[in-house]
Amino acid sequence: MGLVEEDNEWEESCSMVIEGKATRFICDLCQKEYSTREAAEKCQEWCQRFVDSPNLTNLKLSPRVFNALYRAKIYTVSDLKKHSEEELLVIEGFGRKSVLEVREKLKQYEEVL
Ligand SMILES: [Zn+2]
Repeated sequence: MGLVEEDNEWEESCSMVIEGKATRFICDLCQKEYSTREAAEKCQEWCQRFVDSPNLTNLKLSPRVFNALYRAKIYTVSDLKKHSEEELLVIEGFGRKSVLEVREKLKQYEEVL
């Protein structure tokens, strides 16, 4: 068991744990431990995206389409919705068929909600 200290510098900062001499930084969202604050904050930033919006995997896209979006740094449903169909077509490996698939899956997804 370590001593958990809330950091006051940033309100939404990661937690710092002092265990013996080693200081560890923990992502508050996924509870992963890091040896540097930067790494923990990066993780937290990343995790926050998925708290704010459902992960794209919820759309059950085909791996091809999912991977193309992932490479274009589109990771969540809200990321996806920020892009127009024209913008999606610019993504490498993303054709009309992919756009149709995205449109269809988004529709299905939103009907379920
Ligand atoms: Zn995390």
